[in-house]
Amino acid sequence: MVLVVTPEFSCRTNATNNEEAAAKAAAVDADTGAPTIFSCRTNATNNEEAAAKAAAVDADTGAPTIFDKIIAKEIPASIVYEDEKVLAFRDITPQAPVHVLVIPKLRDGLTQLGKAEPGHVEILGQLLHAAKLVAEKEGILDGFRVVINSGPSACQSVYHLHLHVLGGRQMKWPPG
Ligand code: 5GP
Repeated sequence: MVLVVTPEFSCRTNATNNEEAAAKAAAVDADTGAPTIFSCRTNATNNEEAAAKAAAVDADTGAPTIFDKIIAKEIPASIVYEDEKVLAFRDITPQAPVHVLVIPKLRDGLTQLGKAEPGHVEILGQLLHAAKLVAEKEGILDGFRVVINSGPSACQSVYHLHLHVLGGRQMKWPPG
Protein backbone atom coordinates (compact mmCIF):
# COMPACT_ATOMS: atom_id res chain seq x y z
CA MET A 1 0.00 0.00 0.00
CA VAL A 2 1.29 3.42 -0.88
CA LEU A 3 0.34 6.19 1.46
CA VAL A 4 0.68 9.69 0.06
CA VAL A 5 0.47 12.58 2.44
CA THR A 6 0.07 15.97 0.84
CA PRO A 7 0.44 18.80 3.32
CA GLU A 8 -1.59 21.89 2.57
CA PHE A 9 1.48 24.06 3.05
CA SER A 10 5.08 23.17 2.36
CA CYS A 11 7.36 22.96 5.35
CA ARG A 12 10.90 21.70 5.06
CA THR A 13 11.02 20.43 8.61
CA ASN A 14 10.64 17.31 10.63
CA ALA A 15 8.94 18.46 13.77
CA THR A 16 7.36 15.82 15.91
CA ASN A 17 4.67 15.81 18.52
CA ASN A 18 7.52 15.90 21.01
CA GLU A 19 8.58 19.28 19.66
CA GLU A 20 5.04 20.60 19.89
CA ALA A 21 4.79 19.35 23.45
CA ALA A 22 8.18 20.89 24.26
CA ALA A 23 7.06 24.20 22.74
CA LYS A 24 3.94 24.20 24.90
CA ALA A 25 6.02 23.38 27.98
CA ALA A 26 8.49 26.17 27.17
CA ALA A 27 5.62 28.67 26.96
CA VAL A 28 4.84 28.02 30.61
CA ASP A 29 8.08 29.77 31.65
CA ALA A 30 7.91 32.37 28.86
CA ASP A 31 7.54 35.40 31.10
CA THR A 32 9.68 34.30 34.03
CA GLY A 33 12.91 35.81 32.67
CA ALA A 34 14.55 32.36 32.60
CA PRO A 35 17.57 32.00 30.20
CA THR A 36 16.92 30.54 26.72
CA ILE A 37 18.87 28.37 24.24
CA PHE A 38 18.45 28.61 20.46
CA SER A 39 19.71 26.51 17.57
CA CYS A 40 19.44 27.01 13.78
CA ARG A 41 19.72 24.35 11.07
CA THR A 42 18.74 25.02 7.46
CA ASN A 43 17.87 22.91 4.44
CA ALA A 44 17.33 25.26 1.48
CA THR A 45 17.22 23.78 -2.00
CA ASN A 46 19.85 24.57 -4.63
CA ASN A 47 17.30 26.64 -6.58
CA GLU A 48 16.52 28.79 -3.59
CA GLU A 49 20.19 29.26 -2.86
CA ALA A 50 20.98 30.20 -6.46
CA ALA A 51 18.08 32.68 -6.59
CA ALA A 52 19.14 34.17 -3.28
CA LYS A 53 22.71 34.62 -4.47
CA ALA A 54 21.49 36.26 -7.69
CA ALA A 55 19.24 38.63 -5.74
CA ALA A 56 22.11 39.62 -3.47
CA VAL A 57 24.17 40.96 -6.39
CA ASP A 58 22.07 44.14 -6.66
CA ALA A 59 21.36 44.37 -2.96
CA ASP A 60 23.17 47.59 -2.21
CA THR A 61 22.99 49.42 -5.53
CA GLY A 62 19.97 51.38 -4.35
CA ALA A 63 17.96 49.87 -7.18
CA PRO A 64 14.22 49.76 -6.47
CA THR A 65 12.72 46.44 -5.51
CA ILE A 66 9.26 45.02 -6.08
CA PHE A 67 8.34 46.36 -2.64
CA ASP A 68 8.87 49.96 -3.81
CA LYS A 69 6.15 49.36 -6.38
CA ILE A 70 3.86 47.96 -3.70
CA ILE A 71 4.55 50.97 -1.45
CA ALA A 72 3.82 53.32 -4.37
CA LYS A 73 0.64 51.27 -5.06
CA GLU A 74 1.89 50.76 -8.62
CA ILE A 75 1.24 47.05 -8.26
CA PRO A 76 -1.56 45.59 -6.17
CA ALA A 77 -1.07 43.94 -2.82
CA SER A 78 -3.48 42.82 -0.16
CA ILE A 79 -2.74 45.32 2.57
CA VAL A 80 -3.34 44.17 6.11
CA TYR A 81 -1.96 47.10 8.09
CA GLU A 82 -0.56 50.52 7.30
CA ASP A 83 0.66 53.50 9.24
CA GLU A 84 2.94 56.44 8.51
CA LYS A 85 6.13 54.37 8.60
CA VAL A 86 5.10 50.75 8.06
CA LEU A 87 3.22 48.74 5.44
CA ALA A 88 2.06 45.14 5.89
CA PHE A 89 0.65 43.04 3.07
CA ARG A 90 0.01 39.38 2.30
CA ASP A 91 2.87 37.40 0.79
CA ILE A 92 2.20 36.40 -2.80
CA THR A 93 3.47 32.88 -2.04
CA PRO A 94 2.07 32.12 1.39
CA GLN A 95 3.80 29.48 3.48
CA ALA A 96 1.04 29.36 6.08
CA PRO A 97 -2.65 30.32 6.27
CA VAL A 98 -1.46 33.71 7.51
CA HIS A 99 1.70 35.01 5.84
CA VAL A 100 2.11 38.75 5.96
CA LEU A 101 5.17 40.84 5.11
CA VAL A 102 5.89 43.88 7.28
CA ILE A 103 8.17 46.47 5.71
CA PRO A 104 9.41 49.98 6.38
CA LYS A 105 7.97 52.42 3.84
CA LEU A 106 11.37 54.13 3.71
CA ARG A 107 14.17 51.64 3.07
CA ASP A 108 16.87 54.03 4.34
CA GLY A 109 19.74 51.60 3.73
CA LEU A 110 17.89 48.73 5.37
CA THR A 111 18.25 46.36 2.46
CA GLN A 112 18.64 43.62 5.05
CA LEU A 113 18.77 43.32 8.81
CA GLY A 114 22.53 42.82 8.53
CA LYS A 115 22.81 46.47 7.47
CA ALA A 116 21.07 47.84 10.54
CA GLU A 117 22.72 50.80 12.28
CA PRO A 118 21.95 52.52 15.58
CA GLY A 119 19.86 55.06 13.64
CA HIS A 120 17.50 52.27 12.63
CA VAL A 121 16.56 51.24 16.15
CA GLU A 122 13.28 53.15 16.17
CA ILE A 123 11.99 51.75 12.89
CA LEU A 124 13.10 48.24 13.86
CA GLY A 125 10.99 48.52 17.00
CA GLN A 126 8.06 49.87 15.00
CA LEU A 127 8.29 46.93 12.60
CA LEU A 128 8.18 44.42 15.44
CA HIS A 129 5.27 46.21 17.03
CA ALA A 130 3.47 46.25 13.67
CA ALA A 131 4.09 42.49 13.44
CA LYS A 132 2.25 42.09 16.72
CA LEU A 133 -0.62 44.27 15.48
CA VAL A 134 -0.84 42.15 12.34
CA ALA A 135 -0.92 38.95 14.41
CA GLU A 136 -3.70 40.48 16.50
CA LYS A 137 -5.68 41.53 13.43
CA GLU A 138 -5.27 38.10 11.87
CA GLY A 139 -6.35 36.30 15.04
CA ILE A 140 -3.09 34.40 15.56
CA LEU A 141 -1.85 35.99 18.78
CA ASP A 142 -1.89 32.59 20.49
CA GLY A 143 1.05 31.52 18.36
CA PHE A 144 2.84 33.03 15.41
CA ARG A 145 6.33 33.25 13.99
CA VAL A 146 8.28 36.30 12.83
CA VAL A 147 11.09 35.57 10.38
CA ILE A 148 13.70 37.87 8.90
CA ASN A 149 15.90 36.37 6.20
CA SER A 150 19.09 38.42 6.05
CA GLY A 151 21.50 37.80 3.17
CA PRO A 152 22.04 34.99 0.68
CA SER A 153 22.81 32.28 3.23
CA ALA A 154 19.37 32.92 4.72
CA CYS A 155 17.78 32.83 1.23
CA GLN A 156 16.74 36.50 1.27
CA SER A 157 15.25 37.25 -2.14
CA VAL A 158 14.04 40.87 -1.86
CA TYR A 159 16.53 43.46 -0.62
CA HIS A 160 14.18 45.73 1.26
CA LEU A 161 14.02 44.70 4.92
CA HIS A 162 10.88 42.72 5.68
CA LEU A 163 9.49 40.65 8.50
CA HIS A 164 7.52 37.54 7.64
CA VAL A 165 4.59 37.08 10.04
CA LEU A 166 3.47 33.46 9.81
CA GLY A 167 0.67 31.67 11.58
CA GLY A 168 -2.62 29.86 11.39
CA ARG A 169 -1.05 26.43 11.56
CA GLN A 170 1.25 24.54 13.91
CA MET A 171 4.78 25.81 13.33
CA LYS A 172 7.59 23.28 13.23
CA TRP A 173 11.16 23.42 14.39
CA PRO A 174 13.81 23.47 13.03
CA PRO A 175 12.84 25.90 10.25
CA GLY A 176 13.97 25.11 6.70
P1 5GP B 1 12.63 36.79 1.35
O1 5GP B 1 12.88 35.54 0.56
O2 5GP B 1 13.43 37.93 0.79
O3 5GP B 1 12.80 36.63 2.82
O4 5GP B 1 11.09 37.13 1.18
C1 5GP B 1 10.57 37.83 0.09
C2 5GP B 1 9.11 37.51 0.04
O5 5GP B 1 8.49 38.41 -0.85
C3 5GP B 1 8.81 36.10 -0.48
O6 5GP B 1 8.13 35.37 0.52
C4 5GP B 1 7.96 36.34 -1.71
O7 5GP B 1 6.91 35.40 -1.85
C5 5GP B 1 7.43 37.75 -1.48
N1 5GP B 1 7.14 38.47 -2.71
C6 5GP B 1 7.95 38.57 -3.79
N2 5GP B 1 7.37 39.32 -4.74
C7 5GP B 1 6.15 39.69 -4.24
C8 5GP B 1 5.09 40.48 -4.76
O8 5GP B 1 5.12 40.99 -5.89
N3 5GP B 1 4.01 40.65 -3.98
C9 5GP B 1 3.93 40.10 -2.72
N4 5GP B 1 2.82 40.33 -2.01
N5 5GP B 1 4.92 39.35 -2.20
C10 5GP B 1 6.03 39.14 -2.95
